[in-house]
Amino acid sequence: MASRRVIILGSTGSIGTQTLEVIAHLNALHDRGEWHERLEVVGLAAGARGDLLARQAAEFGVRHLALAEGEPTAPADGRAWSGVAAAEQMVQATDADVVVAAIVGAAGLAATLAAVELGRDVVLANKETLVAAGALVVPAAERSGAKLLPVDSEHSALWQCVQELSAGGGATVGGAVAPPMGETPTIERLILTASGGPFREWSREAIERATPKEALNHPTWSMGQKVTIDSASLMNKGLEVLEAHWLYGLGGDRVDVLVHPQVIVHSMVEFIDGSVMAQLGSADMRTPIQYAFTWPTRIGGRAERVSLADLTRLDFEPPDLERFPALGLAYDAIAAGGTSGAVLNAANESAVGAFLAGRIPFGVIPTLVRDAMEHLGSAGVTSMGDVLDADARARAFVAQRLPA
Ligand code: NAD
Ligand code: MG
Repeated sequence: MASRRVIILGSTGSIGTQTLEVIAHLNALHDRGEWHERLEVVGLAAGARGDLLARQAAEFGVRHLALAEGEPTAPADGRAWSGVAAAEQMVQATDADVVVAAIVGAAGLAATLAAVELGRDVVLANKETLVAAGALVVPAAERSGAKLLPVDSEHSALWQCVQELSAGGGATVGGAVAPPMGETPTIERLILTASGGPFREWSREAIERATPKEALNHPTWSMGQKVTIDSASLMNKGLEVLEAHWLYGLGGDRVDVLVHPQVIVHSMVEFIDGSVMAQLGSADMRTPIQYAFTWPTRIGGRAERVSLADLTRLDFEPPDLERFPALGLAYDAIAAGGTSGAVLNAANESAVGAFLAGRIPFGVIPTLVRDAMEHLGSAGVTSMGDVLDADARARAFVAQRLPA
């Protein structure tokens, strides 16, 4: 294959801009004869910031652009879409081999599902898509042959830990969804690591009163606002437990979390013989992004190296569900199934928005999510309508509870 055509959804965000950096790097290697394929960017989608979108399009020679808010300037020989459905319409109308799903939140749902249904391989950062609609996305990928290639550092780490299985060693591992693990009898459990966020050592009372400025001050990762707030509440880890559940087909009883403040071990797989495989590296999202493009092989990357000799210690401790109740809610959502993931996700998005707008204290975020889940219960998911309905009801529930 000489070239692969790539669409990036959410190209102006933290993951989107780092994806463009990785693509530029891989193309430079290609031009020097060190990498076998060229990545051609054929479509870009963003929410706002049409100016940055236009600059990216000019730099990478992209002809198809989508912008949710505002009118994108299409290149002379190109096409442009605008409005809430712009990203999905662009995916439908653009021939591509790979779609990078890096829109934040449920806003990325429709375009990501469209890519999966079209059989495009999906480089998946938008975890909310699996949390809300895993019951639709995973079967759709199995039907269309689309591969789901994880970018979330934990899920990429888990994937890297089981390469021997997907490299043909495990006859029981199959299906179109890469990386497959679900029916692998040799895997005992997955262990997701969490940095613990800025409030790891804070008291419950202090966490409940934390300000947006304090919550946005992440100790290790520099990311978009929403995922940063989720990291402070550990809701991000909860979303990732749900993401692992869908991606790898394991129940909540086989997906554990350990707090690991150094953020060197990105996750681990424990096997039935007691062996534990871990993936280590610096906290740099360009590594998992690049791996999603170069899998099943590796090529030189630009991330900072971990100096193991300079590390004095690696700490691990169980998460404190009293101080971080959001994490427990994710396990409740796996147990309840159906629309409960969509409710959890939408209630959380609304509550995070209200917190950032100064309308509720930090401690009320998980309370609102829990109340929404209890109040709305869970119904079966057979169509996108079921997911969107649960999403809308959860947002309305939270809106009603907000102070005037
Ligand atoms: P971000 O806020 O930096 O960027 C979000 C992107 O989505 C922007 O390009 C924005 O314009 C776009 N967008 C928002 N609404 C849109 C809409 N309606 N239509 C089209 N585009 C829209 O967020 P991020 O940190 O890059 O995170 C993106 C996703 O990746 C999230 O799901 C997050 O959980 C996940 N993720 C991020 C990181 C990280 O390091 N940033 C790590 C792991 C996973
Ligand atoms: Mg992560």
